[in-house]
This record gives sequence, C-alpha cells and structure tokens, in this order.
Amino acid sequence: MIAPILPGATLGVLGSGQLGRMFAIAARRMGYRVHTLSPDQDTPTGQIADVEIQASYDDLDAVRRFASAVSVVTFEFENVPAATAEAAAEHAPVRPAGTILHTTQHRQREKTFLERAGFPVTPFRKVETAEELAKAVRDLDCPSILKTADFGYDGKGQARIESAHGAQAAWESIGLAPAVLEQFIRFEREVSVIAARGADGSCVDWGVIENRHRHHILDVSIAPARVSPGIAKRAREIAHQVLETLGVIGVLCVEFFLEPDGRLLINELAPRPHNSGHLTVDANATSQFEQQLRAVCGLPLGSTELLRPAAMANLLGDLWADGEPDWSAALACAPAKLHLYGKLEPRPGRKMGHLTVLAQDTEAALETVLQARKTLTKGRPTKVQC
Ligand code: AMP
Repeated sequence: MIAPILPGATLGVLGSGQLGRMFAIAARRMGYRVHTLSPDQDTPTGQIADVEIQASYDDLDAVRRFASAVSVVTFEFENVPAATAEAAAEHAPVRPAGTILHTTQHRQREKTFLERAGFPVTPFRKVETAEELAKAVRDLDCPSILKTADFGYDGKGQARIESAHGAQAAWESIGLAPAVLEQFIRFEREVSVIAARGADGSCVDWGVIENRHRHHILDVSIAPARVSPGIAKRAREIAHQVLETLGVIGVLCVEFFLEPDGRLLINELAPRPHNSGHLTVDANATSQFEQQLRAVCGLPLGSTELLRPAAMANLLGDLWADGEPDWSAALACAPAKLHLYGKLEPRPGRKMGHLTVLAQDTEAALETVLQARKTLTKGRPTKVQC
C-alpha cells in the first residue's frame, strides 16, 4: 500500500492538451497544485496549471527538474518517449508506469501484448518489409487497414487497402514506416469501457459507452451504450482484466468493435482518460479525471454511478470555418453543458471542445446534443453537419 498524496501536494502532468486541462481542473478543485510539461506554451493544461514548463520531452534535464518538484507524475499524452518516463521516475512515482506507456504507444507491441494475454483483438500482422506486407495482405484479405506502429491517433497514419495491388502504394502513403495490417471489421457499433485501478488494486468502470466516429475522429458518445446486458458484462470484464494484467494505476480506456454476432474485438488501448469519457464530467458521480487523480494519488476511488443518460458531441475546428460559433444560441436552445479547451487556433479536425447533454434516455440526449451543436452554425454553410 502506498502513502496517499493528499490535497495541497503538487501533481505533474506530462502533456498539455484538453485531457490534462480537465485533470488539472479536477485537481485544482480538490486543492492540489498542478505542474505541466510539454513543448508548447499557453496550452489547454497550462492555462489551468500553477506552472507550465515549455520543454521538449527529450530534454531529460528539464524532465528531471519537473519531476523533482512534484509528488507524482501522470500523463495525458501517451506518445511521451520511454526515456522521458524513466527520467521522471528517478524523482517521482510515474503512474501509470512508463512500461505501460511503452506497450500501448506502439501498435505492434500493444496488439502482441493483447494477443499473447488471450484478449480478443482485431486480427493483425506486423509489417516491416515488403514481403511481410504481401504475406499479411494474403493472410487477412481485403479490405484491410494499414496503420503506422507509432504516433497514430484519430485515423492519422492509416491507409485502407482495397486490393493486393494497392498494398505497396498504401504503405508508401504512410511513409513505409513500421506498421500493422488489420483486418477491416464490419462492426455493428463501436463501444469503449473506461476503467480505473487504484493503488490497492481495486477496479471500477463507467459502464459501456457507445461511440460514433466521422473521418476516423470521435464524433459522438452516448452512455449507457445500446448493447445487451451480456455484452456489457463481457466488455467490462475484459477491461478490468486488461488493467489488472498491465498493472495500471490510473485510468485506461479499452476501445472495442462489436461485431454483428455479438463478439467484441479490442481495437486499441489508451492508458489515460479518453474522449469517450468526457461525458463523465457532467453525467457521473465521479469523472474520469477526478478518478485519475484519486488513483495516481493513492486515494480511494469514487463512485462511477451514472446520474442520468448522457450524450457528448465533439466540437472540431471545422465549426469555426465561417467565424466564431454562436455559443449563446446553443446554450439557449438546450440544457447543454459547454466545454472549451482554450485552444487558440481552430484547425479543421482539431478538437476544440465538446457539448454534453443529460436526458431521460440516451436517444433524447443524443438528439438534443446534435441539435445544440447544429445551432452553433445555424444559417451558415459549414462542412460539419450533424
Ligand atoms: P484508430 O485510430 O485505430 O482507433 O481508428 C479510428 C477509427 O477508424 C476507429 O474508431 C474505426 O471507426 C475506424 N477503424 C480503425 N480500424 C478499423 C478496422 N480494423 N476495421 C474497421 N474500422 C476501423
């Protein structure tokens, strides 16, 4: 059992995006101080933190100085190099551990870990040579999806292969980088389970959340997911087993494809709070961010009770194409909660914020949140349509 890190202590966050921002908000509310380190300045996390350090993750002296000023280091960005986590660990506990980052930040390592541990995972092959690619396409058939092993998120570094002839061109389009080829799954729906594991090994989750993507980016999440109790139980069990097998102290999201025959396949893991769990801030007794804080500080985990069915819609930079969205209209038309991340530059595809709506059932929540998002750009032509 570890000694709890109590309010008043300083917590370190590697990374400075919206996940760190919402973690920092939870931490500040509970009386902690927050330091963040990333290569950027005036960041979503830095705007909330007490101290924002601008340094490269490879600047290990800066990382050591950062870690020596905090009681625990956690992260909100999983592509932090292993050496960074190791340097931080010389001065403060890193939770979840750097070894977990190392496994989950690389698709080959992550999928190999899952397969070896007996978890159901999307059929895949490692691709590092033209011969491996040709064999993988023969084994998995087309269509299939080639994904870079490193630095992949929101569909970046991915190419769909429609026929064996197009395989080499697809690999070239992702820079001939080490990759995995995945079978294309004709899923019925996508769901995720976010779970937290405390320092004492206790494990909780927020139930199954249903996710809809557009252009490979999460668009909408609803809770609870529209799946049978049997599937929900199985998804939650798998998630708990993943956290236990990895020895996570913190929060981890398991993203699944649900096949039409009811089989669940793991698409990927994220060893941190996840976009599909943003609705927990408004809809659950304890949010994923407060839970991350409780877990990494060695405190008891909070109740994950869902207060009301909920839906969350992401707000991408595309919404700014014709000027600032009409915030008053969206807030006036619906019981929508607005979350904006303080990002200064609204680029297409960039996650700028989200809206959450609670309602008597998920259908009503979904309809209202989409309506609220629509009103942001009402009367204007926009590329983002609900
Ligand atoms: P990823 O970044 O790997 O999570 O991919 C983003 C999204 O692309 C997923 O949430 C799916 O909607 C889609 N996708 C990724 N891999 C596959 C696959 N093997 N089969 C079908 N759709 C996929």
